[in-house]
Amino acid sequence: MSRKVNKIGVLTSGGDSPGMNAAIRAVVRTGIFHGLEMYGIMHGYSGMLNDEIFQMEGKSVANIIQRGGTILKTARCMEFMEYEGRKKAYANLEKRGIDGLVIIGGDGSFRGAQVFSSEFDIPCIGLPGTIDKDIAGTDFTIGFDTAVNTAVEAIDKVRDTADAHDRLFIIEVMGRDAGYIALHSGIATGAENILIPEKKTDINEIVESLAEKEKRKKLVNLIIVAEGDEFGGANEVSAYIKEKLPKLETRVCILGHIQRGGSPSCMDRVIASRMGYHAVESLIEGRHNVFVGILNNKMNYTPLNEAVKKKQRINEEWMKIVKILAS
Ligand code: ADP
Repeated sequence: MSRKVNKIGVLTSGGDSPGMNAAIRAVVRTGIFHGLEMYGIMHGYSGMLNDEIFQMEGKSVANIIQRGGTILKTARCMEFMEYEGRKKAYANLEKRGIDGLVIIGGDGSFRGAQVFSSEFDIPCIGLPGTIDKDIAGTDFTIGFDTAVNTAVEAIDKVRDTADAHDRLFIIEVMGRDAGYIALHSGIATGAENILIPEKKTDINEIVESLAEKEKRKKLVNLIIVAEGDEFGGANEVSAYIKEKLPKLETRVCILGHIQRGGSPSCMDRVIASRMGYHAVESLIEGRHNVFVGILNNKMNYTPLNEAVKKKQRINEEWMKIVKILAS
C-alpha cells in the first residue's frame, strides 16, 4: 500500500527518555534530505490537538544530539483518549497537509497512534522511546542504555558507603511494569538480590539468605528493587526485612528521576539515529502503523497493535546468574 508522502509531523509523547532529541534530529534531517516538509509537534498529542505545530529545517535540530529531554517537550494527553479529541487533532494535520506521522514514545503512545490511524487516513510510524525497554520487537529502546548507566553509576556510589558502614542498602530503580533497569544495573553492580515485576519474589528466602550472610560476616549487601515489584518498592521491602532482622543496618535509596535525565549515551545516540532514519524511509516506502525496532542488529518492523500487546520476557538464566555470582 504505497503512497507518496510529502509532509511529515514528528512528536514525542509519554515519559521522556534520553536520546529522543537524537531521534528527532534524525527524522527531520532524513526528511529534508528527501525533499519533504518536516513539522515539529509540541507536547505530544496535546500539541496536535492544540495546533502547536511548526515547520522545522535542518538547523532546527542543530546541537541537540547530545542533549537529554526533548526539544519538542512531551505530555500525557487525556483528550486524545476520546474520539472528539483525536478528530480535532486530525483537523490540524489536515489543514497543513501533513500526511505522515512519527511518534517517539512508549507503548501508551503507540496505542494512541494505533487508534488514531485506524480512525483517520494517516500513516503512523513509532520509535520506541522509553527507558524501561518494555516493548517486544526490539532489542533496544531509545533511552534504556543511558538510564541503566546512570543507575549503575549511582549504585556504585551507594556501594562505597554501604561498604564503609557494613550496611544493607535497598535501592529502588525505575520500572513500573518492567524489571530491565533493575536486572541490568543489579548484575552490573554485583547486587545480591534483584526484585522485578516479572518474577514473584520469595521475600522470606531473601531474609534467610541475609541472616546466613550476617552469620558469616558478609555485611555489605545490595538489593535492587524495580519500583513496580509486587512487594511495593524499596520502602516496603526494607520495612519487612527490618522487622525480621532488626539488628541489620538497613538503608533505602530511591534513585528516582535522575534515571531519566542526562546526556544520552553513545549507544542511545546511535540507535536513535538509525531508527529515526528508518522511520522516514519507512513512510516513503509506504510502510504504515508499525514501529521501528532493532533485532539482532537488523531493522525490524512490528505492527503497532502487536507492540502494545507483547512484553519482553525476562531470561530465567539471568536470574540464575545473579544468584550464583552474589553468593
Ligand atoms: P508512554 O508512551 O510513555 O507509555 P502513556 O502511557 O502515558 O506513555 O501514553 C502517552 C499518551 O498516549 C497518553 O497520554 C494518551 O494521550 C495516548 N494514549 C495512550 N493510550 C491511548 C489509547 N488507548 N487511545 C488513545 N490515546 C492513547
